[in-house]
Amino acid sequence: MRLLLVEDEHDIQTFLRNSLTEAGYQVDVASDGKKAEALALEAPYDILIVDLGLPDIDGISLILRLRQIGVTAPVLILSARRSVDDRVRGLEHGGDDYLTKPFALAELLARLRNLLKRNSPAGNEATRLHVLDLELDLLRREATRSGQILQLTPQEFVLLEYLCRNAGRVVTRSMILDKVWGMRIQPDTNVVDVHIYRLRGKVDARGQQPLIRTLRGVGYVLKDR
Ligand code: CA
Repeated sequence: MRLLLVEDEHDIQTFLRNSLTEAGYQVDVASDGKKAEALALEAPYDILIVDLGLPDIDGISLILRLRQIGVTAPVLILSARRSVDDRVRGLEHGGDDYLTKPFALAELLARLRNLLKRNSPAGNEATRLHVLDLELDLLRREATRSGQILQLTPQEFVLLEYLCRNAGRVVTRSMILDKVWGMRIQPDTNVVDVHIYRLRGKVDARGQQPLIRTLRGVGYVLKDR
């Protein structure tokens, strides 16, 4: 399980890194929001622990930012802010659980396990999507084509997942904006085109049958046969 720990207090950071590694997590550490965002863009995490008082950005703003760039993994907020207002605010803005400092390690570990359990699809729900030779592992957030791993950003993965779930059907730019970026109106932006372009460069590499089709002026369709 890959875990991103966003914490600027050195002692807590060291303690948690060691304890979580011992508990079997593969831990990456960020001391500020900028580093956290860069790491999250590089590779998908299964779960995140986020402190609220960070040197460069408030933890809540960071979580919102991470959600915007496609991070869907559960977030445990770990903060010295104890008021009901703070906790409600954290939970309403993308946090999945909230633990106040000082904390007991056993409780932190139990909460992480709960979040991971809650987040993993129930037994009968698909954890993999297949479209022709494309395969998406929804738990590991990993995509492969003909067995080759595609190096996708978290947002590209979300976009590809949406195309796969609608394989064979046309999806319009505004549908993609709505589902992937959470924007209801269609702003004057080429964000969808840019991301499709990059995604196509990875999915439809040279020499492979192109799967992502553009229907000019309409949208896109992922071929399923
Ligand atoms: Ca702090």
